[in-house]
Amino acid sequence: MDFELTPELDETIARAAEAIRDARSVVALTGAGLSVESGIPPFRGPGGLWTKYGEPPMDGYQRFLRDPAQSWRERLHPKEGWLRGLQETLEAAEPNDGHRAFSALEEDGHLDALITQNIDDLHRQAGTKQLLEIHGNHFWLRCVECHTRFDPAGFPIDEDALPPLCTDCGGIVKGDTVHFGEPIPPTVLRACYAAVEACDCMIVAGTSATVYPAAEFPLEVLRRGGTVIEVNPYESELTPVASLFLQGPGGAVLQRLHARVREAAS
Ligand SMILES: [Zn+2]
Repeated sequence: MDFELTPELDETIARAAEAIRDARSVVALTGAGLSVESGIPPFRGPGGLWTKYGEPPMDGYQRFLRDPAQSWRERLHPKEGWLRGLQETLEAAEPNDGHRAFSALEEDGHLDALITQNIDDLHRQAGTKQLLEIHGNHFWLRCVECHTRFDPAGFPIDEDALPPLCTDCGGIVKGDTVHFGEPIPPTVLRACYAAVEACDCMIVAGTSATVYPAAEFPLEVLRRGGTVIEVNPYESELTPVASLFLQGPGGAVLQRLHARVREAAS
């Protein structure tokens, strides 16, 4: 999208940078909008992944539990459709300036945790360490019993012995992405609540945060008198209540925000 850094926006970015510097603890919350600049379209709407390839089953988790081996075969050899479309899109995607700005903020000591609704792995690829993926990660694996997560690089899959089993408890291992009908793993949810309770400044980027549980997080920060900084290209349901609204594409705005936080330090 066309973007011009107006003096008004730059002034608001400076105020946001000040809030970040003054905060005791900063947490970020990100969603699909942040990855659009990485070539990952949103799921719904014109050009959306589901619009193009069809929607995944609404009872995906129940289907997995009914026949985990079959679900694994579909994952390893996806047929034409939404799953293959998603896999090809995610494999081709690379982190953008927005992802890099967050990892730089963390590196500088101005970000304590990053909660994301995205499954695309781009925050990890950009270098973010304290990453809480509430909807899981497309590339990772997780035990449905004990919730242990496995890096696929260290977890070889034997196609003759599907589904793979957890090396900790023997439970069934599935892809880490939270399917429709599947509860968010309690381990990540607890970590999110702990991070949100400890923070007094939240940066919300690329999401209007209207879906549970993410919707609660900025409201909780506001209730306790904290600052919520929204970064979105368009006004959202969050805009009327956000403390500061930085309107523009995530990449450019977050890079400028990070530069301003550094400027204030020197
Ligand atoms: Zn397990």
